[in-house]
Amino acid sequence: MVTRIVSKNFDIPNSHKLEVALANGRYSSIDKLFTMKPEEVTAEVTKSGLRGKGGGGAACGPKWELMPPVDERPRYLIVNGDESEPGTFKDRQIFQYDPHILIEGIICTCWAIQANHAYIYIRGEYKFFIDRLNEAIQEAYKAKIIGDKIMDKYDFKVDITVHRGGGAYICGEKSALIESLEGKRGHPRLKPHGKECEWFYGDPATVNNVETISSVPNIVENGAEGYTKYGTEKSPGTMLFAISGPVKNPGVYEMEYGNKMIDFLNILGGGMIEGKKLKAIIPGGTSCPILTADEVERAVLDYESMWDIGSTLGTGGMIVIDESASMVDVAKNIIEFYHHESCGQCTPCREGCGWIDKILRDVLDGKATSDDLQTILDVCDTMNGKTVCVFAPAVKDIIASIVIKFRSEFEEYFKK
Ligand code: SF4
Repeated sequence: MVTRIVSKNFDIPNSHKLEVALANGRYSSIDKLFTMKPEEVTAEVTKSGLRGKGGGGAACGPKWELMPPVDERPRYLIVNGDESEPGTFKDRQIFQYDPHILIEGIICTCWAIQANHAYIYIRGEYKFFIDRLNEAIQEAYKAKIIGDKIMDKYDFKVDITVHRGGGAYICGEKSALIESLEGKRGHPRLKPHGKECEWFYGDPATVNNVETISSVPNIVENGAEGYTKYGTEKSPGTMLFAISGPVKNPGVYEMEYGNKMIDFLNILGGGMIEGKKLKAIIPGGTSCPILTADEVERAVLDYESMWDIGSTLGTGGMIVIDESASMVDVAKNIIEFYHHESCGQCTPCREGCGWIDKILRDVLDGKATSDDLQTILDVCDTMNGKTVCVFAPAVKDIIASIVIKFRSEFEEYFKK
């Protein structure tokens, strides 16, 4: 069930060290990379169908194609390592066990988009992982793998700067991340009407997630066919899926897309811990609609199947909930997080999160009525599609799905 592409070296002792990484295939894509023109690399990645693994699932190659033609302006790659979505802990596995696959992916991507400087924006709380990543980057500079000439022989410059975030969830949103990187408050930007690249200090930039970038060396080395032989037609390749909660083997496992969620839970997750019965799963970080145990039986882990069942694949970080958990407590716990993390720019989001938080407090205190549940759904409706970024619609997705699917649990509180 496990298919190792990105995680191939994770179990090798000292896999994060350059010497071990080199002995186990790291940087082996670089010679082939420089036989290809930048646009050929982009075309291969587009052909591979590689999708962003930070939550949205947007196609990677077409995103790179949005970079304008090369001119005198500097160009940037920005790697999103903010990883603050609850239930999501996959990128830190890359930082810990194979930071060199990320550096290799950065070289490949910088060549494709003709950027000479990459920033890695990493979650501020990840002190251990930041240190490990910085050690790997220093090793790569010292060995002349990056810097003025790639591998000390290819006339292309790549510098890498690690930027430690300040701990705001919203800075995982790419435009807020760029604002933060520019030294400003991390507020999401208004989206342009048409498709265009991102802009960092007014210069062209591309933003990709850590795992997405780490998937690129395999595509360069083995071609698009080497990637599309895994997964489904529309969701090709693999993903680092995470599972947490009352299961026997919580952790991160790389699988090709298209496996059944229930098989993932029972086989790699080891099933529920003794005495616990599955109630629900939040499939890809808390920004996704929740699935009941019946829906989990039918869910298939690829983008299209998850949309068909009314949820999303998100970050692939699954939160398992057992029968003993109160769904009112779950909803309250989640809304407290979002209430705290809303950046406050948009009234429906800023006020909506606060209202839902307050009403759920009332439900728990036995002060609410069924009218209040309707108010929560009305507030959710107001938050959907009327804000600068998708934070508010994501809050609507998870909260409304819990209220609708587990309404009877909320009603139990009205009787008390
Ligand atoms: Fe900020 Fe929420 Fe508006 Fe996003 S939706 S910009 S998080 S207030």
